[in-house]
Amino acid sequence: MKLKKNIPLIDQHDRLGFWGGKFGGSFIPETLKKPVEDLTNKFQKLRNNKNFIKKRDFYFKNYIGSPTSFIKLENLTNHLGGAQIWAKVVSEANGGAHKIYNATVHALICKAMGKKYIVGDTGAGYAGKMLSMAAKKFGLKCKIFMGAKDIKRQKPNCDAMKKNGAEIVPVYSGSQTLVDAVSECMRYWVSNCDNTHMCVGSTVGPNIFVKICGWSTAQISRELKTQLKKEFKTIPKKVKLINCVGGGSSAYGFWSEFIDYNKKQIELIGVEAGGPQKSKLHAAPLSRGAKLGILHGAAAYCCQDNEGQIKETESISAGLDYPSVSPIHCFLKDTKRARYTFATDEAALNAYKIVTKFEKLNPSLEPSHAFAEAIRIAPKLSKNTILIINSCGDARKDKDIIKERLGKY
Ligand SMILES: *Cc1c(COP(=O)(O)O)cnc(C)c1O
Repeated sequence: MKLKKNIPLIDQHDRLGFWGGKFGGSFIPETLKKPVEDLTNKFQKLRNNKNFIKKRDFYFKNYIGSPTSFIKLENLTNHLGGAQIWAKVVSEANGGAHKIYNATVHALICKAMGKKYIVGDTGAGYAGKMLSMAAKKFGLKCKIFMGAKDIKRQKPNCDAMKKNGAEIVPVYSGSQTLVDAVSECMRYWVSNCDNTHMCVGSTVGPNIFVKICGWSTAQISRELKTQLKKEFKTIPKKVKLINCVGGGSSAYGFWSEFIDYNKKQIELIGVEAGGPQKSKLHAAPLSRGAKLGILHGAAAYCCQDNEGQIKETESISAGLDYPSVSPIHCFLKDTKRARYTFATDEAALNAYKIVTKFEKLNPSLEPSHAFAEAIRIAPKLSKNTILIINSCGDARKDKDIIKERLGKY
């Protein structure tokens, strides 16, 4: 299994859509073949179309607020006393997280295909919220499929979706959570694909959705590359790019421009959700030895029991609480280009506490997992090592849980 140079990672799959011969693919029912094929052909055309790229860049800049800033965390650097700590503040993006890049591109694709309706699934509700924002911006009618159980526990996000004019479709089948919402959303898409486009919220799902999402978030690393050259005159000799990994869209977006570099120069570190210290449950398939399985139309490492049933996950961070992970991260793990580890709930909370004590930065619980790893390794590293953390989400959305666990927000 080998990475190729000069080809975006999202395009390094075989004819059947597998990365490294075994991750990804497109496990879909016969009835979905045609809409998936249409979308695949259309996306291939659009990504090579100058006008479409111009439009995308216009909205990245004028709607999302790209580029987001790249800053040195000087107080935290001095406190830890080792490597330099920098942050790419992606939480400055409209909506407070990177998910808006993917949602915006899907809305533009939907319009380019002449469709008026857009559907998506959501677990914790952020993907749905971002899609409803983009739909509103581009005048599309939006339906969000969401497990009935998730609707109950994610009220603020549901309120936001409704405010943006989206219809939430409650899903009562199965476990009444994300897994069932995905199936229901796909079923709906099959019957309505003539006027409806479907969005998947991370670099997961059938091959084409991994590609569209990765192509959208890759903007983050293009910005970072320019910013690094501006700040250091060249790409520095020792860089570590640290990103939390749920589905893996922010990590791919943060890394994509740097995958061809030697890992001695640019190390890629993915941090999964290790769950509560005392629990056996977690959402860390890559770093805690999960086996290959098939979920949501793709083959990937997947938290499962001995019979291959999807296992329950647990994490303080809703955004990382997903039993599987992107096939492209499975590929990066097996080729050893990226290193994956996990941070527990407690380590992430502690990192949140330290970062907010020293810096005017308010990372949500997802990037707090990445900060936990930075805090762990920085003191042992020299000051010419540059650690860059993707601060991909804003903690306002986590304020209740932070208040509950730390006593203040
Ligand atoms: C959704 C989300 C994640 C996890 O998704 P990825 O696809 O792994 O990026 C991480 N951070 C934030 C802030 C999120 O909203």
